[in-house]
Formats: sequence, structure tokens, C-alpha cells
Amino acid sequence: MSDAGYDHATVERRWQEAWDDADVFRTADNVEDPTYVLGMYPYPSGKLHMGHVRNYTITDAYARFRRMQGDDVLHPMGWDAFGLPAENAAKERDTNPRDWTVDCIETMTEQMESMGFGYDWDREITTCTPDYYQWNQWLFSRFHEEGLVERRDADVNWCPHCETVLADEQVEGEAELCWRCETPVEQRELEQWFLQITEYADELLEDIDDLEGWPNSVRQMQRNWIGRQHGTELEFHVEDYGPVEAFTTRVDTIHGATFFALAPDHPISEELAEEDDEIRRFVDHEADPDGDEPNGVETGLTATNPATGEEIPVYVADFVLSDVGTGALMAVPAHDERDHAFAEKMGIDIRPVIAPEPDGDEEPTAPDVSESAYTEDGVLIDAGEYSGLDSETARERLTADIDSAEEATQYQLRDWGISRQRYWGTPIPVVHCDDCGPVMVPDEDLPVELPEFINTTGNPLDAAEEWQRTTCPECGADATRETDTMDTFVDSSWYFLRYVSPDLEDAPFDRERANDWMPVDQYVGGIEHAVMHLLYSRFFTKVLADNEGLEHREPFTDLLAQGMVQLEGEKMSKSKGNVVSPQRIVEEYGADTARLFMMQAAQPERDFDWSEEGVQSTYAFLERLQGLVEEYAAETPDGDDDAIASYVDAEIDATIAIATAEYDDLTFNKALRETQDLVRTLRQYADYTEPHAETYERGLSAVVRLLAPVAPHIAEELYDELGGDGFVAEAAWPTAEVDRDYVAKRRRLVENTREDIRDIVDVAGIEDPLGIDVVVAPEWKYDALEIAIESDADNLIGELMQEGHIREQGDAAADYGQDLQAEREALSMTLEPDAEYAALESAAWLIEREFDAPVRVVRAAEADEDVLANAEPGRPAIEIDD
Ligand SMILES: [Zn+2]
Ligand SMILES: [Zn+2]
Repeated sequence: MSDAGYDHATVERRWQEAWDDADVFRTADNVEDPTYVLGMYPYPSGKLHMGHVRNYTITDAYARFRRMQGDDVLHPMGWDAFGLPAENAAKERDTNPRDWTVDCIETMTEQMESMGFGYDWDREITTCTPDYYQWNQWLFSRFHEEGLVERRDADVNWCPHCETVLADEQVEGEAELCWRCETPVEQRELEQWFLQITEYADELLEDIDDLEGWPNSVRQMQRNWIGRQHGTELEFHVEDYGPVEAFTTRVDTIHGATFFALAPDHPISEELAEEDDEIRRFVDHEADPDGDEPNGVETGLTATNPATGEEIPVYVADFVLSDVGTGALMAVPAHDERDHAFAEKMGIDIRPVIAPEPDGDEEPTAPDVSESAYTEDGVLIDAGEYSGLDSETARERLTADIDSAEEATQYQLRDWGISRQRYWGTPIPVVHCDDCGPVMVPDEDLPVELPEFINTTGNPLDAAEEWQRTTCPECGADATRETDTMDTFVDSSWYFLRYVSPDLEDAPFDRERANDWMPVDQYVGGIEHAVMHLLYSRFFTKVLADNEGLEHREPFTDLLAQGMVQLEGEKMSKSKGNVVSPQRIVEEYGADTARLFMMQAAQPERDFDWSEEGVQSTYAFLERLQGLVEEYAAETPDGDDDAIASYVDAEIDATIAIATAEYDDLTFNKALRETQDLVRTLRQYADYTEPHAETYERGLSAVVRLLAPVAPHIAEELYDELGGDGFVAEAAWPTAEVDRDYVAKRRRLVENTREDIRDIVDVAGIEDPLGIDVVVAPEWKYDALEIAIESDADNLIGELMQEGHIREQGDAAADYGQDLQAEREALSMTLEPDAEYAALESAAWLIEREFDAPVRVVRAAEADEDVLANAEPGRPAIEIDD
């Protein structure tokens, strides 16, 4: 593949070394408020995949663009280095997670360097080093001091054969089998550590509105995840047990409540299970909250509806969750889909009490709820004194009237369980003392370092007996260390702050610098992190703002969720065997080709298909560009500063202005299309005539700089060839001001004209045209077009005829008026007649070049009447002499 003209391997290596030697991408500690560009740091799993390459090309291109615009830029990289896969890999390979992780990091670092990503490697962080994870422990203690840490029972996966706790990822398939021994996994209650993110639920929800630089989809996912609901809390009296609290958002439907449901782990359910085998079996084995359909068992008890006094049956049902709301609910099958499904299955009454709002004075009629529930608001029916009220009023009245009822807010969001029963994570800095209970490890004893890895079936920390043995920080008695480690999402919830001062020894981050440098201006990563990582990071930032003097309450100003790189419409994956290796592409075509192909293939948010032909044509483009620059450098042209040069000049300005705006929006594909179009124009220019040196050089120089963020190595090479000083990576971004609307009209005019000529030549079978006249429309047609666009009159022709100078055109005006009327919806403004004439004049060389015939641009005043009939604004008449 490598042609004599473009030795990508040599070129790329040379510039990577040169950037490195000159510290081009280093951000000094004393810069003020740099533009902070960040890609989500990778998990060091072995090798970079195409998703990584795309993610980091986006941030690198944007960081380079901002740097060339004159910004100080912070663009760091690090490693999300803890996690179960390293532990599994170590077990399989009979090594330890640390060595395996370090190897992966080394490989991936080399690959990143070979891609030409411009990182400040002095700021590299690796979360599995004590330097880093001691601050997870320190932060855990601060959260604890603030009352944001809780220890309570929670279910864990337990393999009775291995006698160990399993992470969710170690439970396989629908049958939920142990990943090692395929024994069915059971649930066990163990004491677990939680961070109380729910304390921040309201702020996390409300501040989403201000995240205007985030995709709406991500904002909506966070809103749904937090799931705030306003409703009513009220008591139902359960026979033998007394009042039981329930939550509902639809107290207006209470007259239709036909049963009462308890979560399987509601205290009443558990008490009943002691005595009743059927309930016991359901609670212990059959209940499946994730199942497709609701299941339950009748208790034989009744509950009293506080609005009607009616006694309704009580069920234990698995669709009621104990950690959402109160773990008990009134069920209204006529107006809730899940209640409806359960009622159908159990043969429970379905009684509609809400009707759609009737038209005018009509009586409301009950909706048909035989097949499915009616879930909209409406008007109450069969609801005693409340009949006839609208849902909203009824909710207010019932909440006020029912003694035990009061307004309440409920959230879907739960506290964040961070305990993991595995080795490769941050040890939770707690010591268990028989007398004092769980005690925090004092700050001066941090970090609690991981012991050596022990290859066992269970958690290696449980097997590390010596490591566990310690003394109580409070009373000095013998004590044992906590063996749970932290969820790795703790590491990633604040890593963006560590880059600010990665070597700081007495705090997780330099407060003053963080206040200046944060928030991250542009964050880029996968949509799979829309909720957990991005929500936890926001939570940490708010806690740090409240307690550690951070002056920012949100970590990421602008967020881009990049799309997938696919192969034939499918996600690339090892298991499908449809993986394209970045390494092979870099070896065969070079990093610049891979980067440029990816960035021009689609807008960053969109999925796109990898295409080997696309890669090859990208490579060919870079090769041709290099040829163009080399020819220029070998012999400076000597052409005139003529109309053609002015056309090319205008195109250079337009390209610079448009590409800059597109880079600013991270729509690299559009910026690159512009740039490639300019390359084509320059090539046609040199091909058609002897170019004007200054214009041509300005064009080449603009192209090289516009490509530099995406294809940085070859851009350096060509910048050097053109005599540029220093690095293009540090060169000034080209600037130009144009009216984009004017440019769009000018280009459309030229393109339409060329297409019309092609059509005529084609249809008339003209082989060798002798001359081409391009005739601009008369001025009155421009006036008529403007009137047609602005008018909303039904009778357009009548309106046109009110204008004397149009009316006097007679039949021609009527004909054109009819044309305008027919296309009225699609009309758009064109250039003014003089501007149109000038634009066609300057582009005439392109037509001459294409059709190999002289071109005359003719003003309306100099044209024949019959030719003018075909000339329209934006669409000149064409006369071809053959
Ligand atoms: Zn097992
Ligand atoms: Zn103690």
C-alpha cells in the first residue's frame, strides 16, 4: 500500500517524536483557565478498539483546534484501572491483576502515541495505584463525616457451592448460575456500604435543566433515573396489623382500588411467611421483580379503603418494590397497566372510576377497561361526592379529606451501594472492632493498600488473613479490616479533578487551580455512561462544592456522546468476530488516514459503517494533497491575479469561515467536506491555468491548517514544506469572514448552472460545444420572486400585477407569475442580479474547463427576448452554440 510519495510510517513517527521533544501538549500549572477537553478514560483491557479511536480522535481534534485558535488547552489521559475483568484475566493467566493491568496500559499507551493523540502525559493518572486510590479512601471518610455514608443490609449474590459472594457480572444467564461452578446463585443479606446520593436527588434533578451543553437524550435519561414523583401518602388499615402506609400518584382513582399489595420483603409479608407455606414459597422462590408479568399470592387478609370504608383483599406481589415508596400500594386495575395485568391473572375486580373528559355538556361515560387500563387523567365517575371532579381537583380534595393522607414526593433513585466483594478495587477504609463496631481508618493511616493477590474461588481479601488483622483505631483492641472494596464508579466520579494536580500529596486536588480550571469544557464518551458515571460525577462534584471548597457544582459543561463504529450495520465485537483492528489500519494506511476517515464519515454522535474503500480513498486523498504541495514547493507558479484568482480567493475565505464554525460545533465531517472541496478547487485551478502564487499558496496553507486537527502528522509535513515556522500544531488558525448565506447562494447558483449545462449537452447530444452563453434573468423577475416569497395572498398573480414595472411585462409576467405560484412552497431568495452576474463571471472558468468551450456571461439588457423567457433568478438561461 505504501507508495513512494507518502511514507506514512516514517512521517508519523518523526512528528510524534518532535511533538514529544518540544512538549507541545504539556499544560503548565500556571496557565489561566485552559480549555479543558476530556475523553472518558479507558478501562485497560488489552488493546484499543475502534470505539476508543473514535472517542479520542474527537477530543484530540477538538483540543488541537482550540490550541490553534490560541487557547491554552488541558487534554489529559488516564486509566480506569480497577475492575473485575483484570481479576478474571489474572486468574486465567495465573498472574495477578496488577501485572496484567500494567501490561495493558503499556500496550494501549503505545497505541495512543501511534495515533498521534496529543496528551499531557505528565498528568497521567492510574486509579489502581495507591497514589490515586488513597484519595478514594480519603473522600469516603469525608462523605462519612458529612453523614453521606450508611451501612445497612442488602442482598448479594451467593454461590452455596463456592461459599462466596458473587458480583452481578459473575452471575450468568437467565438461570442465574455461578460463573465458576454453574450452581444456581442465591440471594443473601449482607451488610453493605452505601453513599447517600438520594440526599442530592432534588438538586441533581433540578440542575439538569441548566445543562444546556448536554444532549437532551442524556438529560432525559437522568431525569427518568432520578424519577421524582409527586403524590400522596396514606394509610390503609390492614386486618390484624393496623395502619399500613402506601404511596400513590393517583389518589383520584382510590374509589377504584380493588386490592392492596405488599412487597415480598414488607415486614407483614415476612411475618405471614413464617406461618404460611404458600406465602413462604412465593417470597423465597417465586417472586421475580424483573419478570415479564406480575406474580403474587393472596394473604386472606383484607385492608380498609380509607375513602370508601370498603374491605379489599391483600396480596403479596413481586411488582411492589420495598425500596421504592413504602413497599405497599393500593392497586387500581382499571387505571394502571401493571395492576390491570395482575387483576386479570388473579380474577380481581376491575372497576373504572375515571372517564375521559366528555365533550360539552355530555355525561362522562366509563372507558372500556376490559383489555387494558385507562391511564389518563379525566373526570371522576362512581366516586360518591367526588364524582364529576377532574382528576387534579380530586387529588387535592382527597388528600385533604382523608385523615391519614398527605402530599409526598417519591424517587426512583436509590442510594448507591458501593460495596464489592472482590479484590481489584479500592479497599474501603474501615476496621471492625468487637466493641466499637465499624471504625473509619484515620487519615494519617491512609492509604489502606491492597495485599498481594491470592488466587482463590472467592474474594482474595477474605483469604488475606494477615492483612485483615489489625487494631482498632479507637480502643486499640484486636480488630479486622473491612474486606469489601469500592465500586470502580467511585474512582471515575472525581478523576477529572485529579488531572488538575496529579502529584499533589496532601489533597485529592489543588483547590485553587480546580476552581480556575474546572469545569471540563468538552467531555466526550459513550452513551452507555448516560446515567451512572455521569450522575455519580455530578453527585461528587456537588458534595465537594458543599464541603471541600470547590466552586463548581457541575463537572461537565458540554457533553458529546459519540456514536458507534459498525461493520455492515453491526456493532463490532470480539464474539461476532467482526472487529477491525486499529493497529492494522495504522500499519497499512497510517494514523492520519484512520483519523480522517472516521471524522469525515459521519457526525460524531452518529453510528457509521467502517469501510475499507472509504479508508483507501482517504489515503489517496492525502497522497494527492501531498503531491500538490510538493509541486508547488518545487516550482512557484507565476500566474495573474485575475478573475479566476479572485474566485479561488473567495472560496478560500468561504472554506475557512465555514470549516471554523463547524469545528467549533464539533461537526468535523462538515468541516472536512469543505476542506476537501477546497483541495479540489485548488487542483482544478492549477490544472486549468498558471495559478497566482499568493492566492494558491494561501489556499494550500489554509488546507493544511484546516486539516491539522484531524490529520496532524501529514499536516506538519506539508506545513514544513510550505515553509511554516515551528509546528502547525501551534500555528495560528486561519481566519476569514464571510456571509454564509451569500456563499451558499453563490455556490448553489454555480452548481445549478453547471448542472443545467450538463443536462442540455446530454439531452441534445452535443459532443463538442463551440460556445456557451449564460444569460442572467431580468431585474423584474427578482422583484417578483421577492414578492412571492413575502406574500401570503391567495392570488399571487393579482398581487404581482399591482407592480407597474412587472405588469408592463405582459404575458411574460403572467407566465412567470404562474411558475412562482406553482412552486410557492419551495421558493428561496437568490443573489441580487449584479451579484449573480459577478458570481457567474468569476466561475466561468470552471464551466470552460468542464465543457472545453468559451463561456460568455450575458446581462439581461444584452440578451434576446426569447432567451430571457428561460432565465430565472438563481437559474440563468443557457444557450449553447454547436
Ligand atoms: Zn460456584
Ligand atoms: Zn474498638
